[in-house]
Order: sequence, then C-alpha cells, then structure tokens
Amino acid sequence: TPVATRLAFYQGQFVENSAVRLPLTTQALHYGTGVFEGIRAYADPEGGPLAVFRLREHVERLLRSARTLRIELPHDAGELTGIVLDLLDRNGCVGDTYIRPVAYKYALAPGTPFGVRLSGVSSQFSVTTVAMGSYVPQTGLHCKISSYRRVPSASIPSGAKITGAYANNALAVEEAQADGCDDALMLDGDGHLTEASTSNVFVVGRDGRVATPPATGDLLPGITRASVIELLERETGVVVEERPVTVAELAEAGEVFVSGTGVEICPVTAVDHRPVGTGRPGDLTTEVRRLYTEVVRGRRPAYASWLTPVRSA
Ligand code: PMP
Repeated sequence: TPVATRLAFYQGQFVENSAVRLPLTTQALHYGTGVFEGIRAYADPEGGPLAVFRLREHVERLLRSARTLRIELPHDAGELTGIVLDLLDRNGCVGDTYIRPVAYKYALAPGTPFGVRLSGVSSQFSVTTVAMGSYVPQTGLHCKISSYRRVPSASIPSGAKITGAYANNALAVEEAQADGCDDALMLDGDGHLTEASTSNVFVVGRDGRVATPPATGDLLPGITRASVIELLERETGVVVEERPVTVAELAEAGEVFVSGTGVEICPVTAVDHRPVGTGRPGDLTTEVRRLYTEVVRGRRPAYASWLTPVRSA
C-alpha cells in the first residue's frame, strides 16, 4: 500500500503531513468543489536524480482546472513547478513517487458556511507525495462496461480534474469490482466509449488500426494519452484515429489498452468477462508499454524534454 511521505506542502509552507487538520466545514468536502492532479516521478535505474514526467503539462492542467472552478491559486506555473520539485527533494524521495496537488474551495466569510457557489469562497492548495512504484500487470485488466454513464461535459466540464466528478467513477469501479472485474469502462449518453475510471482507452482493431475516443468527448484527455499518440506516430508510424468508438468495436478488438499516470500503459485483456483478442496482452500494447517505460526512465534522449529532474536528495 502506498505511504504518504513525511512532508506536505500546505497553505504556502512545508509541514508535517500528519499535522494538517481541515475543518469539517471545508466547502469542497461537502460539494466536491476541488481540483487535483496526479503526477509521477520516476527513479533513475542508474542512480541519478528522480525525474518528473511531463510536469509542465500537469501544472498547466491544474491551472486550467482551477480556473474552471474559480479557484484562485496563489502560485503561477513556475512556482508550482518549484514547489513540486522542492517537496520531492525535502522528502528525500529516491524511489518512484506519486505526486498529488489539490486545490479546493474552503470557506465563505466566517459565520456563513455551506453556500453552494464558487465566487466569494476562499480556497486552499496543498501537495502530497506518496511512495508508489509502477506495477507491471501480469494478466492485464478485466474491465466491465459500466451501467453508470459518464458525467457529460455539459454537466461538469470533463477536461478539468474536478474532485466531485469522481463520485461517478467511484460508483462505476464499485460496480465493476462487485462483478469480479478490475475497472470500469464508461459510455457517454450516446453509448459511445469514453474512458476508464482513471485512464483513457485505446482500441486496436483486428486490421491493426488504432482508435481512441476524441479529446472533445466526455472524457479527460490525458497527458499519457497525448504521449501515447505521439510515441506511436513517431516511433512506429501508427496514426491513432481520434474518433467515436462503439461498444461493438470494443467487443471485436484485437487489443485494448488503457493509459494514465497511475496505470501507465496497461493491457485490457477481458471486457465483460469475455477475452479481448487472444486474452493476453497484445503486441502493440506491449510495444507501447516498452516505449513508455523507456521514456519515463530517461532511456530515450529524444524525449528528454518530457522529464524534469529533481535536485538529487
Ligand atoms: N481519465 C480520468 C478520469 C483520469 O482520472 C485520468 C488520470 N488523470 C486519466 C483519464 C488519464 O490522464 P493522465 O494521462 O493525464 O494521467
């Protein structure tokens, strides 16, 4: 199980994680009015400093998410980058680490709690780091097509990582796990595939063509998703089609895989208890996973700009 490291960044300071106490009136706790990021830092197998994967993109998405919820972050992109690197350094992180910034609505003026609104509500910002290695799935994920539809962008903008929206994902995961699966695949109101609970989905047809639901759909267009699209095109010449994907395509696919900061690149080997393709991780999935692993471990100089080294601890 992941363990939070000693220090957190909280309200402008580096403090003991265990010392943070939030009042029960914290607005985001009641209405889900927070935004967050999930970022990974990777250890160098040769003992160099940790390197954060696509830190700039995560910081920019956090700033965009915060604007969506009218959260005034007291830090700009440069400061946020510095805070993340500084926290990793101060925590002495040497192994793979997961980084979780969260900005959330805190309180209306004292004495006027519990207003369902955004403006006029103060906000707070924190960053926590958690020691968390990457795990290589042996058999791949078994996914269930959820009976919970994904919250549409027209209701909660899906390009923003808004805490409250994840109640939808949690319901879908719960249902999937109760049915003996690992994760949920969620559909939109038209019955098209959107994404998994914390990752984007790629479907490889039996003709070898690769498709993923469009970034404009009801999904979070992931930073890993963008990286996969770029890696596939530059390294294998495969062009990913960003277009609506049907459940029928999923059922007939040769391979399916998901991409996300947490799951990295992970094969989906069964959907609704039926094997995908051979039921084993496919060749393209294995290749994408290999490329991605090389990139995040700093083994591909062409992608060095995707990594930000932490001062060695
Ligand atoms: N979709 C959802 C709902 C997610 O929570 C995540 C994880 N942030 C992703 C997709 C993948 O995004 P990324 O590759 O940027 O981690």
